[in-house]
Amino acid sequence: MSHPNDQDMVNYARDELGRYKKFRIIEHCKECPECAERLIEAAREHGPEPEPFRLSKWNKISIVVMLVALLAVAFGMYWLLSSVGESTSRDLFDTPVPEGMPAPEVSPEEAPQEGGRPQDADEQRLG
Ligand SMILES: [Zn+2]
Repeated sequence: MSHPNDQDMVNYARDELGRYKKFRIIEHCKECPECAERLIEAAREHGPEPEPFRLSKWNKISIVVMLVALLAVAFGMYWLLSSVGESTSRDLFDTPVPEGMPAPEVSPEEAPQEGGRPQDADEQRLG
């Protein structure tokens, strides 16, 4: 059995081989540790982008998204606080409320009487 050449290894690593050729290389590597090593080497050098790069790319994106979200939250809080401060100060300056507002006094005449004093009526009837 002939060893697959380096180009075949590279093509395998790049996933550019047909199913049959890949199968043949795999079958060969099962019986030929030397070529298995070569295949691993080829995959290491010519394989598709390794995972860490993709992960870091996605990490960057997620970090950016998180930063944007944090900034949005920070701006939202700042806007909320500043708008609340403006409204309270504006209320204080535009419509000053006197501190000792006159409480509604209940005069004794207007105080509700309870029951209309039935005892007096009984005394008058009796006496
Ligand atoms: Zn071999």
